[in-house]
Order: sequence, then C-alpha cells, then structure tokens
Amino acid sequence: MDTGNSVTEKPPSGSDFADSPSSAQMGIPEVSHLSTCRLPTEHGVFSLQAFRVGQVASEIIALVKGDLSAASPTPPLVRLHSQCLTGDVLGSRRCDCGEQLQASLAAIAADGRGILLYLPQEGRGIGLLNKLQAYSLQDQGLNTIQANLALGLPVDAREYRSAAALLLHLGLVRIRLMTNNPEKCRQLEENGVQVIERVPIVVPANAFNQGYMQTKADLMGHDLQLDLTHGIRTDS
Ligand SMILES: [Zn+2]
Repeated sequence: MDTGNSVTEKPPSGSDFADSPSSAQMGIPEVSHLSTCRLPTEHGVFSLQAFRVGQVASEIIALVKGDLSAASPTPPLVRLHSQCLTGDVLGSRRCDCGEQLQASLAAIAADGRGILLYLPQEGRGIGLLNKLQAYSLQDQGLNTIQANLALGLPVDAREYRSAAALLLHLGLVRIRLMTNNPEKCRQLEENGVQVIERVPIVVPANAFNQGYMQTKADLMGHDLQLDLTHGIRTDS
C-alpha cells in the first residue's frame, strides 16, 4: 500500500535539471510554479502542484507520484488529461474521460512514479457551454464531429505544447505516455519531449458511448481496438 512517503514535497525547479533544455532554448511557453500540497486519493497520496504556463488562462494541475528527478532507467509514466466536467466530476457515460482519469492515476500509482497533467481544455478545447450545445445536437442524431462542425467549431481544439513546456520544466525529456491518440505523441515530440513508449489505456465501453468511441476510432485517428465484450481501448 502506498503510504505517500515517496511523494516529492519540494516544489520543482527546472534549473535543478542540467540535462533538460530550457524553455528559452526550445522557444516554448514560460512555466511558473504556483503551489504544492499533498493530495491523498483512493490511489494513494500524490503531490498536487499548480503551474501557470504561457498564455493558458487557467492554471495547469499536476498530480505527481514519486520522485521524478530520481535517476531511473525507465522514464516515468505520463498522462495528459483534458478536463471534462461531465465525465470526470459528474460521472457521465457519454464519454470515457472519468474512467480514463481513474485508470491513469491507478497505473501511475502502481508504477510508483509518474505524473498526470490536468489540462484546462474542456470539451476537446471548445469549452463547457459549446460542448453541452454539441451534446444537444448529438441527442438529435449527429456524431461528435458533425455536431462541432454544425456549431462552427473545430473538431479538436486541444493543444499539447503547454504540456510539453511543463514536462520539460520538470526535467522530463523522455517519457512513457499513456494514450491512444497519436496526435498527443506528435505534438510532444515536436516540442522537445521524447515519447519512448505509448502505453494504451483500456477501459470498458458502455451502451451510451459506443458511437462516440467508434467515431474516434474511425474518423479521429485514435488507435482504438473496439471490443465491446472485453473492453475498449479509449482516449479523448
Ligand atoms: Zn469527457
């Protein structure tokens, strides 16, 4: 059982890691640390750290397990999780975000070392109200892509450059990324973070999100293996 003793209590400082390139060198957003506290969860104790990254309006929250600066032959597990009020907080079954969030934290806890970035880009970056309006159109038969386009909104407005900046600030140049979305890997690599392994997340599908999963697999480039009887590889 994780007692939380291994959680790093000190606020991180990018200057402690001589091997990581600086933000200025990479031409990526400035990162400033705002706060650190302990966060006991059902997956053990994490270090919760808040950061300001570039022009991102809301702070980015990091849940850290273990000492990320410790030398290790195995790069840490990383999850970039985009905020989803309905899935993460309200337990919505329209998507798989809440289950992915919990599965990611469980995997990081089991590994003993890793980090989840909670990115403030609700509704694949279009915001809560737009997402709810898109849901309303989906209730009338449109799929998730058609609904966004009908509202004059991008299908996916998320960016992972800020996440890359934060990872580099923490000295994480080489990572194992939990995702089935190749776009996340591409953007991280493009911004100086090496994804040496892509770790799939497998959570079960349900009767309400099968169509959403199918759309992501068929039309949005996600590497999903649809198997409704044995679980589904999912991502958002
Ligand atoms: Zn969601």
